[in-house]
Amino acid sequence: MKRVPVIAANWKMNLSIKEAENLAKELWENAKDIDDREIIVFPSFLQIPAAAGILKNTNIGIGGQNLYFEENGAFTGEISAFQLKDAGCTHVLIGHSERRHYFKEDYETVNKKIKRALSSDLKVMLCVGESLEEHENGLTEMVVVDELESAFKNVNMNYLENMYIAYEPIWAIGTGKTATPKDASHVHNIIRKTLNRIFGQKAALEMRILYGGSVKPDNIVSLMKQDDIDGALVGGASLEAKSFISLIHFDK
Ligand code: PEP
Repeated sequence: MKRVPVIAANWKMNLSIKEAENLAKELWENAKDIDDREIIVFPSFLQIPAAAGILKNTNIGIGGQNLYFEENGAFTGEISAFQLKDAGCTHVLIGHSERRHYFKEDYETVNKKIKRALSSDLKVMLCVGESLEEHENGLTEMVVVDELESAFKNVNMNYLENMYIAYEPIWAIGTGKTATPKDASHVHNIIRKTLNRIFGQKAALEMRILYGGSVKPDNIVSLMKQDDIDGALVGGASLEAKSFISLIHFDK
């Protein structure tokens, strides 16, 4: 089945407002004619309005890197789904390994965040992936399946077209190490089978599964050639216009 490729940029806690605006401008200049793939950028919260000023209502989606699951109220330091949308977001990243690891986000929190985002009409990119220790102990499948099952507990089927999965082996994020295309493809296949079991064949065939972890212009082509790899979530190499633009045009 043909799925529209997705290339997404996670800017993490980087860039000034001016830098984010300049990067958004350069991306837009170089991607405005693209209509055969999805492009999404995830700036940090304060940089979202600057990016949205350039990219809102274009072919480039804008997402938050996180949200809080409550609707509003006394949750100092948190950001709601409504606030993300109000600032121009169409998407949100949920369950990034840096959130799970540094900020102790557990399965239940990830599940609540997904439900809040989907019911608020935000598209969700759910990140899953194993640590180095889990990888070395042969636990990859168990971890990824657990993360998917817990994340999707009681998630309404009506929202499935607003979901993406990003498989990001934690040992490959920001380390320069990438899973081989064959290994990544094997895990993507496990993810698709798990989606099939949870949601049925149609949803499993339609959902885009991105790979993330040190994706660069020189390795994206071999990753994207794999049947079950539908896109890339890019951290480091998305911070420079030149490399992210070449990632967007990976097959041109
Ligand atoms: C990420 O954090 O989502 C990521 C994939 O980072 P990097 O590309 O730098 O490994």
